Amino acid sequence: MPLRQRYQYDSVEGARFGRFNAGINTTFIVYRIGSTVIDTGPANQWRSVRRFLAEQPVEQLLITHHHEDHSGNGAVISREYGLIPFAPKLAQAKLASGYVTPLVQRLVWGSPRPVETRPLPASVKLSDGSPLIPVHTPGHAKDLTCFFLPQQKWFFSGDLYISKMLKLLRIDEDFPMLMDSIGKVLALDFDVLFCPHRGIVEDGKASLQAKFDNLLELSVEVQALRDKGLTPREISDRMLGVEGWLTKLSRYNISRINLIEGALKLDLGRPVTSRVVLPEY
Ligand SMILES: [Zn+2]
Repeated sequence: MPLRQRYQYDSVEGARFGRFNAGINTTFIVYRIGSTVIDTGPANQWRSVRRFLAEQPVEQLLITHHHEDHSGNGAVISREYGLIPFAPKLAQAKLASGYVTPLVQRLVWGSPRPVETRPLPASVKLSDGSPLIPVHTPGHAKDLTCFFLPQQKWFFSGDLYISKMLKLLRIDEDFPMLMDSIGKVLALDFDVLFCPHRGIVEDGKASLQAKFDNLLELSVEVQALRDKGLTPREISDRMLGVEGWLTKLSRYNISRINLIEGALKLDLGRPVTSRVVLPEY
């Protein structure tokens, strides 16, 4: 039952899982390209994820970042298939020791189990021989690493994309760093974007560009209001409306005011092109 939807795009298969079917923020898509699995899905969906994975041989598991919807089944997949997952260097300590998540996240995803990983190399070979290039894209999380497939022009975006416009930001997200990371990714030659929450976005590059433009525009407006003397709270209420139930439930861990405060930190004097730094590969 908690398997919500199946996806197929060329050689990519996906399956959406979630305890609650309340939209893209409570469900998660595990993608598979041949014998390579990208992210694990949440721990409370293991029975369904296990059935999906059992349909094909699994030879490698790549984790984009430590958040529990992406990594929660790393340990059980590792045991089931006798493999050591690849993960960003910056995620490894947290993944190995485990970490406590807020109540609302535990309700939605369950608790992640500690897992030993090995660091992502500069390039990973898929079963058809084509390369997958990890691209470090901090901002949403310090360790977030996306996967670029230059031959297929595909981009597995972890939590970099999710939506063309953000309404909320987590307290630990870094808005200026997020903009730099989006700028970096926009310099890559890809068409289709695979988001574990939104789904398969065929006009992926244009959609990610739209997100960049929308966030830049938000920053310009927010900073103009600050220059008129409004406080962050006043700017937030005026531009985004009052905080919702999720913000209260998360004790302001996820909120509109975090987004406004992030947008206030963006250096608008810096040319956008300077945000574009091509990854080395
Ligand atoms: Zn995340």
